[in-house]
Amino acid sequence: MEWTKWLREIPDFPQPGILFRDVLPIMAHNDAWQEVLDGLEQRIKPLAPDAIMAPEARGFLIAAPLADRLKIGLVPVRKPGKLPAPILSETYSLEYGENQLEVERDSNLAGKRVVIVDDVLATGGTVAATSRLASRLSATVVGFAFLIELASLGGRSRLDANALVTSLLTL
Ligand code: IMP
Repeated sequence: MEWTKWLREIPDFPQPGILFRDVLPIMAHNDAWQEVLDGLEQRIKPLAPDAIMAPEARGFLIAAPLADRLKIGLVPVRKPGKLPAPILSETYSLEYGENQLEVERDSNLAGKRVVIVDDVLATGGTVAATSRLASRLSATVVGFAFLIELASLGGRSRLDANALVTSLLTL
């Protein structure tokens, strides 16, 4: 079973010139999805994390089964205005403009080892902002794990050099 055969590439989404890597067909194929989860679990487990953090929305779909496999907690990082309780917020740059990510202040992460997961590492802005939120919650980010890393965008260089950065497929 080779999960990468279910990776779908959509030209000109969400805007002209962007080749969007769509991971949803992978999730829809049982063997492929289990292979991906096995691979991520194997890489994350040696880091002995206490919790997983993941940005909305595909990150949630990856983080939830991994947290269950590892029997650890999950802290969702959301787009603005979604969380009901007091929050911390981080702003990050997009190609055009800025965006924000939010996490609940009371996320029980102080002193904990955290792994951040997402589907795609592109410029790294999303997970770098997530990592700053983790630091502000007094957690230690020990790793970042992705299905796909778009190496030419250099996201890896924006991430904490002390943390493991791992991706199942580098394009
Ligand atoms: P970054 O912040 O530039 O690293 O972009 C990563 C974020 O944008 C992640 O949350 C991804 O889900 C999303 N993203 C960027 N490019 C793609 C892509 O080609 N396919 C799927 N998601 C992408």
